[in-house]
Amino acid sequence: MIENPFTYALELFSGANRSLGQFATDPHWGSVVEWARFEAWRRAGDAARIGEAKVNIEPVADGTAGLPYATGFKVRLTHRRTTLGESVFSQTWFDQLARDASATRVAQGELKAGETFYFKLLAYPRPVDAPAKASTIEVVEIWQPIPLKMSDLQSLTAQATPVDDPHPDDVPVFIPHHVIEETATMTEKAGANETGSILIGHLRCDPGTRQIAVVVTAIIPAKHVEASRDSLTFTAQTWSDVDAALTLRQSDEIILGWAHSHPGKFWCNPQCSAERRRECAYMKPFFSAHDRTLHETVFSKPFHIALVVTNTDVGMIHSLYGWQRALIHPRGFHILNSNRPSTAVAAKTGDPTHEKTCPITAS
Ligand SMILES: [Zn+2]
Repeated sequence: MIENPFTYALELFSGANRSLGQFATDPHWGSVVEWARFEAWRRAGDAARIGEAKVNIEPVADGTAGLPYATGFKVRLTHRRTTLGESVFSQTWFDQLARDASATRVAQGELKAGETFYFKLLAYPRPVDAPAKASTIEVVEIWQPIPLKMSDLQSLTAQATPVDDPHPDDVPVFIPHHVIEETATMTEKAGANETGSILIGHLRCDPGTRQIAVVVTAIIPAKHVEASRDSLTFTAQTWSDVDAALTLRQSDEIILGWAHSHPGKFWCNPQCSAERRRECAYMKPFFSAHDRTLHETVFSKPFHIALVVTNTDVGMIHSLYGWQRALIHPRGFHILNSNRPSTAVAAKTGDPTHEKTCPITAS
């Protein structure tokens, strides 16, 4: 059961602090409820009670101005008066809705496209007789506990190399070195086109600490993707290949996410100098609007991850993206069975020796 007794609005302001009016929002709460359930589950276990828990969504009042001004909202799970977990989401969660709202003011000439604007979050009690909206009903779905494999995580950590400073609050992600190499080879072979694959593996739980980790075991190359120079679409054939591979492998693996490449060195202007190419945005890891839409639609579970391989003039850069409080963020991970840091890792961390010695040829 979901209790969501408030409606939320955004008040937009121009850079000169001029109010551009209030906009009602109709957020999709599914991802925040899913996140709150996942967090409660990974911290407290107890899948059965989380499945039955009452979900309450309410604003966090602005400490100075008070309601209706809010700094965010919280999602609380309770089971027979016992709180199983509470997740707090900041106003940042509304950034995209604010961007969408700003489009009408751009169309009316009150804001310029690309101009910086600000917004305040407002929360109003929902009228008692207001009909439930589709987005309120949407989240009333049965929570499915995720299959877990019990195993010691300390031994995994001992043989892993951290990349991009994994945050202690995030679910740790372990990717074997052979997956890093296979995705780099696929990227190299694809040349100027994007290439993709599905990441499979397990959610592992340490029997001692109850800590949960995402452990990738393999990739299933998506042979039937529709790949072009700047986007990638998985087809129905990809999913039947994945199902067949999971059945064949008989290892109880699940889909953990996806990997795809950005052929940055082919996107960058070939007329530019080596120095300018090195500064080119395409040579740096990013998650495009198309990547975001695909991840939100297909890989919406809180533990789903996206590995991006950027093909640059100085080698491959592996970077990881994942869910954090129901938003997609860059995140750290661990490479398993890596005896040496790969070239990609050295390049990403900006190792000056690598930068100096890497043979860069001007086009
Ligand atoms: Zn992409």
